[in-house]
Amino acid sequence: MRGLRLRILRLIAAFFVALLDLSMGAAIFFLAAKITGHNISVLGYIFGALLAVAPDIDLLSYLKKEHGRHHDQLIHRPAFAIPAGVFIGWIAGGPFWACVAGLCLFVHFLHDTQTGIAWLWPFSLEYKSLPFLKIEWQIIEKYAGKGIAPYLDDFWLEPTKHSFWQLVPAVIILTLLVWLHFGSPYGLYIALAFFIFSWIALLQFWQFGSVAIRESLRAGRGKRKI
Ligand SMILES: [Zn+2]
Repeated sequence: MRGLRLRILRLIAAFFVALLDLSMGAAIFFLAAKITGHNISVLGYIFGALLAVAPDIDLLSYLKKEHGRHHDQLIHRPAFAIPAGVFIGWIAGGPFWACVAGLCLFVHFLHDTQTGIAWLWPFSLEYKSLPFLKIEWQIIEKYAGKGIAPYLDDFWLEPTKHSFWQLVPAVIILTLLVWLHFGSPYGLYIALAFFIFSWIALLQFWQFGSVAIRESLRAGRGKRKI
C-alpha cells in the first residue's frame, strides 16, 4: 500500500515536472491564436500543451527502466526535433500549427537548457547554455542513468529550489491564461480562485510527499544513495 502511494505521488510529481512546458505550450497556442485570429478551443490548448512536452515522451518508459542521459536522445536534438515538429505541424494543421509546433519545441529546449541541451548538434555534442540560464551540472551528473524515480524523490516530492522555481512560473502562466481566456467580468475572479486552489493543492501534495519519503526511508527503500 505504501509502495502504491509512493508510485502515485511520483506520477503526480512527473506531471509537475512537465507543468512548466505544458503551461508554456498552452500560452503559445493562445497568443498565436490571438495574433492570427485563429479559433481558440480547449482542443487547441491541449495540442499546444502536448507539443511543448512532446520531446519528453520517452520519459514514460523511464518511469520503470533505467536509462542513459535523457537529453542525448535524438528527440532532444533541436536541429532534428524543431524542423521535424514544424513539418508534422504543417502536414497536420497548416502554417498555424507549424508555427505553434516550432515555438513550443523551442521553448521546451530552452527550458531543458537548465539541465543541458546540445544546441549545436550535429556539429558539437557539448551541452550549451545561454547567458541568463545556468546548467545544473550536478543534476546531469548525479542522475544520468539512474532512472527518473530518484530525481523525483529528491527534487519534486518535497519543495526544493529546483522544483519551486519551475512551479512558480507554471502557476503564474496558467493563472494569466485563465484570466485572459475568460476575460471580463469574471475572468479575474476565476483566475484568483485557480491560483489559490493550485497552491493549496501543491502544499497538500508536498505534505503527502514528505510523509511518503520519510516512511520510505524508514522502510529502507527510500532515496537511493547517489
Ligand atoms: Zn525535455
